[in-house]
Amino acid sequence: MSDADAKDSPEQAEFRAQCQDWLAKNHPGRPPVKLPQGALELYDPAALAWLQKWQKSAYDAGMLGCDYPTEVGGGGKTDCQAIANQEMQQARTPYLPNVIGMGMAAPTIFFHSQDDVKAELLPKLLSGEEIWCQGFSEPGAGSDLANQQTFAERDGDNWVINGHKVWTSLAHFATWMILLCRTSKDDKYNGLSYFVVPIKSAIGNGVTIKPLIKITGGTGFNEVLFENLVVEDRYRLDDVGAGWKVAMTTLAHERGAGPMVTPASGGMSLEEGETVSTSNAMSLVDLAQSQKRNNKTAADDPMIRDEIVKLVIRQEGMRQTMRRMTVPPLTDHPMRIPLQSKLNYTELFQDMAELAYHIEGAASSLNVTDENAPAGGQWPFAFMNSFGMTIAAGTNEVQRNILGERVLGLAKSK
Ligand SMILES: Cc1cc2nc3c(=O)[nH]c(=O)nc-3n(C[C@H](O)[C@H](O)[C@H](O)COP(=O)(O)OP(=O)(O)OC[C@H]3O[C@@H](n4cnc5c(N)ncnc54)[C@H](O)[C@@H]3O)c2cc1C
Repeated sequence: MSDADAKDSPEQAEFRAQCQDWLAKNHPGRPPVKLPQGALELYDPAALAWLQKWQKSAYDAGMLGCDYPTEVGGGGKTDCQAIANQEMQQARTPYLPNVIGMGMAAPTIFFHSQDDVKAELLPKLLSGEEIWCQGFSEPGAGSDLANQQTFAERDGDNWVINGHKVWTSLAHFATWMILLCRTSKDDKYNGLSYFVVPIKSAIGNGVTIKPLIKITGGTGFNEVLFENLVVEDRYRLDDVGAGWKVAMTTLAHERGAGPMVTPASGGMSLEEGETVSTSNAMSLVDLAQSQKRNNKTAADDPMIRDEIVKLVIRQEGMRQTMRRMTVPPLTDHPMRIPLQSKLNYTELFQDMAELAYHIEGAASSLNVTDENAPAGGQWPFAFMNSFGMTIAAGTNEVQRNILGERVLGLAKSK
């Protein structure tokens, strides 16, 4: 059964038809500049500008933020974002640049901020005009997220923030940051508070952003240093000391388990003429058929065929597992399928890229800039990036702990 065959209500069916019609006429086509494999690696302002234009047009067409109320810039619909996502994926539209904004900041602001702040921030977030980043991780606070040391001190109607964030994706383009920090040293969890912080306007005046280089040689994430950054109290989300509770809203949505459906962050990232998709196991078939091996192709090797088939089966299993989310008796715990999916797809991508290495053999050492690199050199990049995927949004080890303890009810690890 395809997504389009799903049981749409009459309103949903009408909305689906509108999306299909709009996408048929307004697909932006191939990007004029090279895009990285994912939005979190964006560094070229021209690539960002092209993707922002795409996000704005999809937003204006009503396909982003459809399920948010109109007062905060949304479409005022119910259960329509998932349909827009399916149709954008089907049409292979480009990915959206404001992934952190839409996936994490928007629902957190929606559920925890004052009405005037929602109305001020959400329209430009959903349209992609303002890029958002997430300031959670610190040198000593990753898996142990509550160990925040960045400190916000009250000063009348303002807060003064000092500290050091790390691995902050997209900070170099971000107008705003969602920030978890400490407001009391007396209590680990109840001493945390949550803010939205204007960072672009404060660069050189309380905010310093330093790029970090990834294993790929590219960048995309940063260190962000706060030195006496002044933030208005109205940009605090929820109560002082309620930061951990607010952060759980962010994390639930980051892991796909929150009540608001995130606009699709997937999509193509290819230049004109390129056809490989490193997120689809079927691309390995094309790769194997194109690689010569002892006067045959890699696809003639039964061991390679076997490995590709195993990965395609895992991919299909994952797709079917996602469909279980729409069947209420199978969604007894909201974290069960989202957490499984994060583990499944990050590990599947890693295994797919590793097999591509074997298929390419010595040619896998050729860089993306080398015209002889198989599949445009995309697979070695995907392999290197795949390690970040098993770390970002909480490492897979920690996700397994959460699955075991909170979903399966096993004894705590410590
Ligand atoms: C590509 C990428 C993008 C990112 N973007 C952002 C961003 O935009 N904003 C942001 O705030 N952060 C971001 N991060 C940071 C990410 O959230 C952290 O790297 C992650 O939470 C792990 O924290 P850590 O790096 O401090 O590792 P640590 O917490 O120091 O963990 C080190 C190792 O110990 C293991 N470990 C730790 N605790 C346990 C435990 N209880 N049980 C079993 N094993 C354990 C971990 O699995 C890991 O293997 C990003 C990371 C990556 C890779």
